[in-house]
Amino acid sequence: MQIELLTIGDELLLGFTVDTNAAFLARTLAEIGVEIVHRSTVGDDADRIAAAVAEAIERTGAVITTGGLGPTADDRTRPAIAKLFGRELVRDDRIVAQIQQRFWRLNVAQMPATNIVQAMVPAGARVLDNRHGTAPGLFLDDARGRWVVMLPGVPREMRGMTVDTVVPLVRELVGDAPSIVVSRTLRTTGIGESALAERLGDLAREVDGMPLAFLPGWEGVDLRLTSRGHTAAEAQAELDAAARMLRDVAGPIVYGEQGDDLASLVIAMCRDRALRIATAESCTGGLLGARITQIPGSSDVYAGGIIAYANEVKVAQLGVRDATLATHGAVSEEVAREMAEGVQRTLGTSIGVGITGIAGPGGGSPEKPVGTVWLAVSGIGDTRSLGRVYVGDREEIRLRATQASLDLVRRALGSL
Ligand code: AMP
Ligand code: MG
Repeated sequence: MQIELLTIGDELLLGFTVDTNAAFLARTLAEIGVEIVHRSTVGDDADRIAAAVAEAIERTGAVITTGGLGPTADDRTRPAIAKLFGRELVRDDRIVAQIQQRFWRLNVAQMPATNIVQAMVPAGARVLDNRHGTAPGLFLDDARGRWVVMLPGVPREMRGMTVDTVVPLVRELVGDAPSIVVSRTLRTTGIGESALAERLGDLAREVDGMPLAFLPGWEGVDLRLTSRGHTAAEAQAELDAAARMLRDVAGPIVYGEQGDDLASLVIAMCRDRALRIATAESCTGGLLGARITQIPGSSDVYAGGIIAYANEVKVAQLGVRDATLATHGAVSEEVAREMAEGVQRTLGTSIGVGITGIAGPGGGSPEKPVGTVWLAVSGIGDTRSLGRVYVGDREEIRLRATQASLDLVRRALGSL
């Protein structure tokens, strides 16, 4: 089935709000075999909303809108589309009662009169309950079976309603969907996009007839396989086989799938082996510690960290030798190794991680350009170290450094 999306709001056109609703709807509907064939955005303008919906109805016959269902004067979706379909707006007392109850639950005795607007329903429309906010969604169809679904713009409400009511409703409209679009993602790290493509050879273009998408980000390059036009069971089998082929060729650069977080995986690996970990961070200033402590239950694995930004702190807290600093400089393999070993010793853990680098934008030199990072892991066999020169801005370089240090731990643990 093919449908269109229309997102509504001045803030989207002005660029103050990124249109995450469209992305979420496209991903979610793809999972049930619904293809988004056209996407557009208009401001809070009744004529433009009506024109955009009319075009979509003509072209595709099915459209989902988000935004403009609120109680204020800039919310014009409801009257604009009611008018387009030639329907009166009728007050729905059941919705009035629901909105009133919602305000009672929030300890507001009298619901604001402006909210009555949200209880106005185009004659003949189906009301789509919204358990996540005040404005219900609306479904309206015409004599030829062409339809529009209106959803609120607030992302949390829109997402909740999509799962609660839109997916079941669209399933009902499609009937038994014979084919679906399903994706599966393998996550790689420590290798650039082009090197990865080279390693994959012929698989880089397609795997078993499926296209392969390369999605680079600071965590690494994700490889996304997409299966179209099969039943759910066929698609799963096809994706499983393709993922196996990819893993065989890619090897240990694949660390996980879908939304796997490398920090969580590494913490789980340490927990399985009853190993505790400590971090010594210079250019990342605690970012690695923050990633680790973001994981619930990391306290049984993570002892803590030392942010050793200044050389004096590297020396006093981590036992990095003055001579090492003088000879090799603070951003060097030797210092990264002494930082890892120092924090392991100081905090009495089994594993130590050291990170030192130049995040920029200043501080680079021809021998050590901005983006130069040295990482080390001690305590798992011999101390291992890794040097990289990352491109990107300060934030990206720092994030990439945390990812690479975690991968160094993962690889070291994998070799035990
Ligand atoms: P509305 O339902 O139009 O009153 O939208 C309420 C709020 O939801 C807006 O202020 C935006 O912050 C947000 N919002 C609306 N549309 C979108 C969208 N397409 N993507 C992300 N956020 C949105
Ligand atoms: Mg709006």
